[in-house]
Amino acid sequence: HNRSKSNRPPPNGRPSNPPLPPHLSKRRDALLPFRQALPIYQHADSIRAALSTKNTLILTGETGSGKSTQVPQFLLSQPWCKKCIAITQPRRVAAISLARRVAEEMGSSLGNASPASKVGYSVRFDNAAGPNTRVKFLTEGMLLQEMLRDPELKQYSAVVVDEVHERSVNVDLILGFLKKMQKEGKRKDAMKVVVMSATADVEGLVKFFDDEEGDIGCKKIERVQTDGVQSAESEKAKGKGKQKSGSGGVENGVVPVTDTKSEPSSTVSTCFVEGRQYPVKTIYLPEPTQDFVESALKSIFQIHYKEPMPGDILVFLTGQDTVEALERLVNEYAQGMEEGVPKILALPLFAALPQHAQQKIFQPAPSKTRKVILATNIAETSVTVPGVRFVVDSGKVKIKHFRNRLGLDSLLVKPISRSAAIQRQGRAGREAPGQCYRLYTEQDYASLEPRTTPEILRCDLSAALLTMKARGVEDVLNFPFLDPPPREALEKALLQLLQLGALTETGEISEIGLKISKLPLTPTLGRVLVEAARPERDCLLDIIDIISCLSVENIFVNLVTEEKKEEAEAARRELYKREGDHMTLLTTVQRYAEERSDRKVWTEKHFVSHRAMQNVMDIRKQLRQNCVQLSLLPSSSTAHSNSNSTDPSSNPSASHDSRTRSILHSLLRGFAANTARLMPDGSYRTLLGNQTVAIHPSSVLFGRKVEAIVFSEFVFTNKSYARGVSAVQLDWVGEVLEEVGG
Ligand code: ADP
Repeated sequence: HNRSKSNRPPPNGRPSNPPLPPHLSKRRDALLPFRQALPIYQHADSIRAALSTKNTLILTGETGSGKSTQVPQFLLSQPWCKKCIAITQPRRVAAISLARRVAEEMGSSLGNASPASKVGYSVRFDNAAGPNTRVKFLTEGMLLQEMLRDPELKQYSAVVVDEVHERSVNVDLILGFLKKMQKEGKRKDAMKVVVMSATADVEGLVKFFDDEEGDIGCKKIERVQTDGVQSAESEKAKGKGKQKSGSGGVENGVVPVTDTKSEPSSTVSTCFVEGRQYPVKTIYLPEPTQDFVESALKSIFQIHYKEPMPGDILVFLTGQDTVEALERLVNEYAQGMEEGVPKILALPLFAALPQHAQQKIFQPAPSKTRKVILATNIAETSVTVPGVRFVVDSGKVKIKHFRNRLGLDSLLVKPISRSAAIQRQGRAGREAPGQCYRLYTEQDYASLEPRTTPEILRCDLSAALLTMKARGVEDVLNFPFLDPPPREALEKALLQLLQLGALTETGEISEIGLKISKLPLTPTLGRVLVEAARPERDCLLDIIDIISCLSVENIFVNLVTEEKKEEAEAARRELYKREGDHMTLLTTVQRYAEERSDRKVWTEKHFVSHRAMQNVMDIRKQLRQNCVQLSLLPSSSTAHSNSNSTDPSSNPSASHDSRTRSILHSLLRGFAANTARLMPDGSYRTLLGNQTVAIHPSSVLFGRKVEAIVFSEFVFTNKSYARGVSAVQLDWVGEVLEEVGG
């Protein structure tokens, strides 16, 4: 051991020299008692011990028990942990807010703020990690991206996979890759893997990691320690450890204490952390409701008038749209409350919410005020909101679903699973006895699915397959999946990648596919971007602007009253383009970027969301950088140039036409499957699949009849809608379909 004393982390896991700025150390010290009171603190030693002898730990604990914030800090001081610890999160909000919190707890600045920063994060379009980062929160997608560059993840000593119960496609891929990595054993030092979950299928996970044949069930898990850590060993696994390891294998059933040179057995430990849970009284609706936003509003005010303070309310809704609608209603009603009634502070919480707004939910309410947090299912397990005694559960969630007939993913509002309902209910009893208002009947509850189907069994797999191909997995059908998706879905995804030109006829990844896999975009959008970079199209900067807009929820402010709608229509008229929504988005970005005076004023005048436009500009910058890295753009393009040589939308010359044409052709190349033609009866039918779609009312083409359309999104509410629509010529569609072999 030649590490100098000064850079060895002290045993409490805190950073040592150089001395901390006083405000950081003060905050760190103030937070310590809070950390020590977390249920997981009792398990620190056993978690460390488990990982010193085993490479894999499966850790289950209630939301709020301290898993995400404490586990990396427990491990930092371990002798095997010389490099960085990665912790994956399904959502950017959680990755960023956890990084901020852990930085505070460790008395460190965040990201690359100073060379001494120990905690960082990396999320799509925002990387804040420095050379000395030792704890890095990443979204699952970002870790997969890093695996493409470095398949053995050599910069990390450990990967902590958090929120595994959510079972996103990406988490399933990460688990598969980590298992493969451990099995292949190409790394010199051992890679430690911690799998964390609020409601784990522990048996399935142990089985998955413990044995390649999968024949070691939970029955063989034997308790080796009494404080919650168990070891899943079997004679067979011991034998395997011996077989595989060189110097440091398992001898006579004794597991050696790991140092980074030896290769310990590949068996798995498990650990359960009991959370604090007070009783929660559950109240059902007597009759089903047609409008859960209205029912939620009633419940909120019923609680507010009847129940004593303190006690904040957490409401589970479906998405940004319902959150914002209820926020407006709550604020409206709260204004009409009598004198003397405590105030209400409505706080939205959804994935696309900017940082400072998210931080508000962690601050205590001002005196004589009740906080009402209006959240998507992000608050189910991902983010813990303190102070909550009342939960209002809509019973609904917006999830991605693959619609087989259309061959497209779409977001659908669906009933939650019973296990999600229990999670939501649990949020009311963290700090004291609580109440949960379920906006559905008791019979409805009984008929819910027991648990949510993993995403990999219900989504388009093309992005997942491309990642696998790029990472060198040749036989995707035999990848170690925790739940293997149906063969049909895999084949469909392979076909889609073939049509995009991302795979060759023989199923290998193509030049184009490699480029797409390195972009933080879906294969479809990636294909659009690569197409735009071709010399004969030459419209990459414009396409980047459009894709940046498609990557945020909505750049136009949603309006409720008819009067406001008319006002907005008039103000936006100069932005609307007859070619459709994509050219409209492009014009908006370019006008915004060129605005010399006050951009905020400009957005207000045009009823454009300033917050969304700031996001768009960030994404645009990131995508330009990605394109420079892939040599699709010269390096001068990342300079803060705000306009793309000329504005096609304001130039009524022939060059405008050819540029617009290039843009639409590029869109078509990626979205060939999302094309529809006008039928004699005035409806639109998709060219592949022959399905009826209607142009969404939010489109600038709504109510127009054009010979063919290409659309970037498919929404299903009461019927099938195309959203993000451009008018194209039917013969262009024919050309592209011929190219994809459709
Ligand atoms: P788990 O991963 O088990 O759900 P966490 O480690 O995320 O638990 O959270 C532990 C506690 O730390 C929570 O109860 C919460 O109050 C607090 N906490 C987590 N993140 C933040 C944050 N960004 N700001 C303030 N407090 C936080």
